[in-house]
Amino acid sequence: MKIICVGRNYQKHAAELNNPVPEIPLIFLKPDSAILKKNKPFFLPDFSNDLQFEAELVLRISKLGKGIKKGFAHRYFDALTVGIDFTARDLQKKFSLAGEPWDLSKTFDGSAPLGEFVSKEKLRSLSDISFYLDVNGVRRQTGNSSEMIFSFGDIIAYASRFYTLKTGDLIFTGTPAGVGPVKKGDNLTAFLEGQKVLDFFVR
Ligand code: ZN
Repeated sequence: MKIICVGRNYQKHAAELNNPVPEIPLIFLKPDSAILKKNKPFFLPDFSNDLQFEAELVLRISKLGKGIKKGFAHRYFDALTVGIDFTARDLQKKFSLAGEPWDLSKTFDGSAPLGEFVSKEKLRSLSDISFYLDVNGVRRQTGNSSEMIFSFGDIIAYASRFYTLKTGDLIFTGTPAGVGPVKKGDNLTAFLEGQKVLDFFVR
């Protein structure tokens, strides 16, 4: 399976990193070895001194598809959760400044903790899904699918022009403002529509 991720999908987050708002979705992939499930701890890697959280809505693909039309995109995922797109910000900056690919800064082992999935049917409206991330009980990020620059439909339509979507693939849909560093001992908890879906420690 593959994990498709979208960068800079919220205006305020693009602004906080001094990045322009993109005209088309900015896509990158994480390998399946990035996934952390069942609230397992995240171990700080030794190659970064600025490991940052990015809480994101995650879609679970439930059907094979290629060249999917935006209007049919909702038929291709069946559940959502909140995941963390862990980013070695220092490495990302270093690679970006050198004009080099920054994949390593976002795709390493454990860089994609995943919450428990909630069935799409249980959600009121796909265009109004609220989520938030607490670190040690303090709210650090809040987002809503209504604030996304590229909607779920836009992302699926665009990404499926390049990649065949397969059952079990995941899409990380971008992070709202408020990203920040983690340190040993931090407890990250994420909520989808007020329901806790993720709860793990940094070790
Ligand atoms: Zn991200």
